[in-house]
Amino acid sequence: MTAEPILVSLLPDTATLVENDVLVGGVSLRGLAGVYGTPLFVYDEETLRARCREAASSFDDGVAFASKSFLCGAMARVAFEEGLCIDVATGGELDIVLRSGVPARRVIMHGNNKSAEELERAIAVGVHRVVVDNFEEIALLKSLVSESTPLDCLVRVTPGVEAHTHEFVRTGQEDTKFGFSISSGDARIAIEDLREIPGLTLHGVHAHIGSQVFDLIGFVESLSILANFITDDGFDELCVGGGLGVAYVAGETAPSISQWGDALRAAAVEVGLDTNVRLLAEPGRAVVAQAALTLYQVGAVKPVAQRTYMAVDGGMSDNPRPVLYGSGYEAFDVSQPLAERPQNVRLVGKHCESGDVLIDEAWLPASTGARSIIATPVTGAYGYSMASNYNRVPRPAVLFVLDGEVREVLRRETFDDMAALEM
Ligand SMILES: *Cc1c(COP(=O)(O)O)cnc(C)c1O
Repeated sequence: MTAEPILVSLLPDTATLVENDVLVGGVSLRGLAGVYGTPLFVYDEETLRARCREAASSFDDGVAFASKSFLCGAMARVAFEEGLCIDVATGGELDIVLRSGVPARRVIMHGNNKSAEELERAIAVGVHRVVVDNFEEIALLKSLVSESTPLDCLVRVTPGVEAHTHEFVRTGQEDTKFGFSISSGDARIAIEDLREIPGLTLHGVHAHIGSQVFDLIGFVESLSILANFITDDGFDELCVGGGLGVAYVAGETAPSISQWGDALRAAAVEVGLDTNVRLLAEPGRAVVAQAALTLYQVGAVKPVAQRTYMAVDGGMSDNPRPVLYGSGYEAFDVSQPLAERPQNVRLVGKHCESGDVLIDEAWLPASTGARSIIATPVTGAYGYSMASNYNRVPRPAVLFVLDGEVREVLRRETFDDMAALEM
């Protein structure tokens, strides 16, 4: 068996393959690996901006970028400049977004266990919305919100929809830690409770059915359940959450953000959702995943009886998704992107775990080996944001490339950075 050259459709929008290099944003990946070292995250800013614009034009004002998928100041500003609000789920995410200069009125605060401190700061800075998750949070809001410290909210509900995706990223079903159940009556009680808090304005409902969802049916079902649930409430917002899937490997296909928006708009008309209700969503992965790739250098190559192990200079610390969810990726050799890929290897990292596998069966050109620079595409979501210092491996640098220019938006972590917490 042999694999075809890497599919251009898995690469950032501006990627150009030449005989001995790949250009992204007009910049040579081989050159970047040489200057900035590896592992290295390279984001195509044009892809990021295009996906943000697509989301902004597919939904109504208030549609958000789910920052947990990839957050740094530069990314927050890109999403804001292209017309999106920004979802945060913790005080730490809120802090980075505010430091980036994005105004609080474009920030939406999520979380299934918000602390009093997190809520106090959200209220003090004046976030756009808080998405209320549970009765303890309502009790906290009773003490924090008043006519002089007002707050705009949505209420998170569970529609009882099973998204067809990995169990760990499924969230719309009844048995979940997120939100208020519609069917048990809790969601209705929460709405009544919230409406009694002076200074609190409840704008509508929110649901999030899961992540890496390819099938639009689940979103449409969720929308119709929510629309029916709020028929007489006079709400002006309905948010279907995030979760739109992306293709990671050859053979996968995902709807675009605009196809997702179109399907939901059509469903909204069909179920008779009041036209005054703003239709909102909060994509993360679909905005950032395909915009980036990770560059690694190959080190040890070890043939054993069953297979060949090829080790790179990163691993589960910069991409934990294969370990967490069994996610698939592809790899290609940056110096020969047009070559056939007949060499089958297990691509592993440098961590002290047998489970530190990036790609169970990677296909690479025959001559790829020690010192080759290889890339794994579609690593823009839940890679850097889930990165760790396991084995005291410093986190990689993150670059944005655009029109032939390179912007280092996050520098590589140093041993001094990691030692900084020692008392
Ligand atoms: C994770 C999450 C998102 C984003 O999910 P993606 O799969 O990255 O689009 C949106 N909303 C909520 C509430 C989430 O928890």
